[in-house]
Amino acid sequence: MELSQQSLNTLRELLEASPKKIVVLSHTNPDGDAIGSSLAWAEALRSRGHQVTCIVPNRYPYYLEWMTGIEQLVIFKSDSEGAAIKAVAEAEMLFCLDFHSLSRLDEPLSRVIAANESAKRVLIDHHLNPSEGFDVMFSHPEASSTSYLVCNIICALWGEKSITKAQAEVLYVGMMTDTGNFSFSNLTPALYRTIAVLAETGIEIPQIYNNVYNSFTEGRARLFGYTINRKMRLMRKGTVAYMSLTEEEMRRFWFQQGDSEGFVNYPLTIKKMRMSAIFIEHKDFIRVSLRSRGAVDVNLFAGRYFEGGGHHNAAGGKSFVSMEETIARFEAAVEEFAKEGHL
Ligand code: 5GP
Ligand code: MN
Repeated sequence: MELSQQSLNTLRELLEASPKKIVVLSHTNPDGDAIGSSLAWAEALRSRGHQVTCIVPNRYPYYLEWMTGIEQLVIFKSDSEGAAIKAVAEAEMLFCLDFHSLSRLDEPLSRVIAANESAKRVLIDHHLNPSEGFDVMFSHPEASSTSYLVCNIICALWGEKSITKAQAEVLYVGMMTDTGNFSFSNLTPALYRTIAVLAETGIEIPQIYNNVYNSFTEGRARLFGYTINRKMRLMRKGTVAYMSLTEEEMRRFWFQQGDSEGFVNYPLTIKKMRMSAIFIEHKDFIRVSLRSRGAVDVNLFAGRYFEGGGHHNAAGGKSFVSMEETIARFEAAVEEFAKEGHL
C-alpha cells in the first residue's frame, strides 16, 4: 500500500499551519476498526496541539469498553449536551474514518456536517466506491483496515517512534478485528511489518485478543448456538447460508448490542460454503450482513439488492420490509445472482 505523497503533503500543511479544532467521525454501529482508528488518530492530533472531538453516531459494543480513551467518544445518539453539534459547527477540519461517504451518516448528524461548509474534509478509509467532496483523500480498498492506514499515516507524518503504547493497542484492535484475527484477505508483508512496529511498543497481544474475543456474555453464547442450530438455512446445495433474528428472539437471549457480531462468518467454516448472510431486526428496518469466499462479490450483491456496500468479501445493507419478505427477496436475489454467474 502506497500512500499518496501529495495527500500527505496537503495534510501535513493543514495540520502544521496552526492548532486546529478538529472532529473525527466514524460510522454507525462502530466496530473495532472504527473505534481503534478514531482513538489513535485523535491522540496523534492532540499530541500535536490540536483540539479534537471524536464522534460516533451510536454506541459501540460492550466488548470494546476496555479500550483506552473510549470514554472520550461523543455518542451522537445519546449526546444530551449537544457537544457533537457544537464541535461539528466549530470544526476547521473533519476527518471521516472507516466509512466511504458522508451519506452513510443519518440525519440529523449529516445535516449538521453539511452546514459546516468551510471545514476541510479528509477521508481515511478502506471501503469501495468513496464519494466525492473530500479535500484530501486516503481511500485504500486494498488495505485490510482503516487502523492500518492510520498507523501508516502517523508513521509517514511523525515517524514510528511517535506511536505510543496506548495508540498501538487501539490500532492493533482495529487491525485484528477487521481481518478476523489476521485470517481474511489483504494480509501483506507490509501489514506484518506495521504490526511489528506496534509490538515494539510493548503491547500485550494475547491480552488484547482476550479482551475482544473472550469477553462475551452467557446470553451471547446461547444465542449463537440457537442461531446456528435453529435458524441457519441453506440454499444451492449447501453453498449459500442465511440466518435471521427477530427482536423477540434477541430479547429471549438478553441481547446487548454487539452480541450478534461474528455470527455471519460462522457458516463459512463449512468447507463448500461460498456466501453467508444474516438478517437482524431493528426497530425501523432489518440490517443485512453478508460475507463470502473468493470470487463471490458481496459488495455488488449488497449494492444491488439491499441499498448497501462495503468490501468484496464483507458487506452490508438494509431492508425496509418484513423479515419474511426480506428472506423471500434474498432467496430470489441469490437465484438471480447465480443465474448471472456471480455465484
Ligand atoms: P457488517 O456486516 O460487519 O456490519 O459490515 C460489513 C462491511 O460492510 C463493513 O465494512 C461495513 O462498513 C459495510 N457495510 C455495512 N452496512 C453497510 C451499508 O448499509 N452501506 C454500505 N455502503 N456499507 C455497509
Ligand atoms: Mn474497517
